[in-house]
Amino acid sequence: MKKPREYRKLVGIAAAPGVAIGRAFIRKEEVPEIPKRKLDTDQVELEAERFLNTLHQVGDEIRRTQRLVEMEHGAELALIFEAQLFMLDDPEIKKQTLVLIRERQYPADRAFSVTLKQAKKMFAQIENEYLRMRLSDVMDIEQQVLIRLAGGELRALNALRANTVVVAHDLPPSEAVQLGQRRVKGLITDGGGANSHASIIARSLGLPTVVGTESASRQIASGDMVLVDGEEGVVHVNPTAPILRAYRSQVQRQVQRQLDLSSRRSLPARTRDEHEIALLANIDVPEEVQSALAHGARGVGMYRTELLYLGYRLPTEEEQVAIYSRIVEGMAPHPVVIRTFDLGGDKLSHVLESAPEANPFLGWRGIRICLDTPVLFKTQLRAVLRAGVKGQAQLLLPMISSLDEVRRAREVLQEVEEELRQEGVPFVEGCKLGVMVEVPSVALQADAFAEEVDFFSLGTNDLTQYTLAVDRGTPKVAGLYDSFHPAVLRLIAMTVDSGRRHGIPVSICGELAGDPLAVPLLVGLGLEKLSLSPGLIPEVKEVVRAIRQNEARELAAACLGMKTGSEVRQCLEEAAARIQKE
Ligand code: PEP
Ligand code: MG
Repeated sequence: MKKPREYRKLVGIAAAPGVAIGRAFIRKEEVPEIPKRKLDTDQVELEAERFLNTLHQVGDEIRRTQRLVEMEHGAELALIFEAQLFMLDDPEIKKQTLVLIRERQYPADRAFSVTLKQAKKMFAQIENEYLRMRLSDVMDIEQQVLIRLAGGELRALNALRANTVVVAHDLPPSEAVQLGQRRVKGLITDGGGANSHASIIARSLGLPTVVGTESASRQIASGDMVLVDGEEGVVHVNPTAPILRAYRSQVQRQVQRQLDLSSRRSLPARTRDEHEIALLANIDVPEEVQSALAHGARGVGMYRTELLYLGYRLPTEEEQVAIYSRIVEGMAPHPVVIRTFDLGGDKLSHVLESAPEANPFLGWRGIRICLDTPVLFKTQLRAVLRAGVKGQAQLLLPMISSLDEVRRAREVLQEVEEELRQEGVPFVEGCKLGVMVEVPSVALQADAFAEEVDFFSLGTNDLTQYTLAVDRGTPKVAGLYDSFHPAVLRLIAMTVDSGRRHGIPVSICGELAGDPLAVPLLVGLGLEKLSLSPGLIPEVKEVVRAIRQNEARELAAACLGMKTGSEVRQCLEEAAARIQKE
């Protein structure tokens, strides 16, 4: 008789709410070891054939993923796969590998890897940065072909069975977007924190997620049944019947609550004492506009454009115009805040192929990359200005740390406007330019910034990280990452006050905006615009409708006077309990 699989409970960090039950798929990323052996003469032709078949298989798998991603997320995201297919079909690479198999009697894995070594060297030396980016595709293809040759499962998240829970050591954002397939029900990772980018994407896709389990990918076997509790940050591996029964009613309540909330979608986000709070959506891919509207968003408060960079090349100006126009038109007459590429840190740093940094979050990222790479920045600015004629587009600069950066960015913007004018290309004049307040220096100098920018958007994910010197993605220090820390609250308050004094709007687009516990505090601090994952809007609106602004102000003043984040949290929990009782 088959032995029942063993029950195990893993504890991690709750990263996206909800409960999911499914079979585990372990995403492998190790490239198998390649032994230095030689083939017998009679094996050579069979090995050559095996190699060609493998290329075929991998090509089919990539095309299948490409179709899925295109169907679910649109053609832009599917661009990433073009480069890989091109590489896989390269006649030189094929020829060279076959020569090594036939003449040197190398097994296919060794022959392929030796061939790619030369290709990798060549790509690494290319001066043109866009071509150099193809190095990451060579490495990706190498990994996929070698895993297949070794008889392993492909790393790509395609061909998944229905009701799959993906278990990974870590998941780069470029792969996280593939989780939008309907068959994926949940996500578990060893690393990461609640605000790492895979978690943010999982939340926007509505996938229950637990991160920071440290060892899930080693402790869970493919095919194990797993229950992901994204509320408590717990994973039950091969859950027993009583555990499943207990969760069944929770899942039913969850479904009922979602139905209730969406039936209240068109109600205004207004406090009991009639103050309007604008709720906007953070989106990562253009297709989320529909979900944003369906959840009652009054605009896009932040579109993270860096995911457009999933392909090996910068999307052309025309491609970007088409994408931005679709969003701006889809949201009109509401505003769409387009954030310029925030590459680097943990976001797609693989496409940059710059020298490794000891502290990537303190290194070459966000606006720094854009200002150093004019073609990247100018192409994007031109596209946003051109799309702006279709509705209301605004520009947002990420990772600003000094006013010089704003001034340089404005100069480039003016140059771009002048070029478009000269060319006679229609574009929007006087596009609003705002900055993310996510580095403490900006909050501390908010008055100076307010004189030169059109709006502030508080990025509390990074603001917390940089204020407390706590990496947002490291599980070991996740307990120290606390956006309720009074130091973070003071920086928020300083920014809001400065915005008010100078008459410029202040919004918040960090994950704090989607935390129902934080909402009375944020309203009390004077924020009138919150931008959050579309799926969280109905819940946040319920909180807004249940509070009074004058009481929220008193609550915020009390929190600002507290000494620790845990005191603030306790105070907010008590306030939430009072609000619920009313
Ligand atoms: C932030 O830092 O709060 C933010 C919204 O930006 P991101 O999460 O994309 O870094
Ligand atoms: Mg940020």
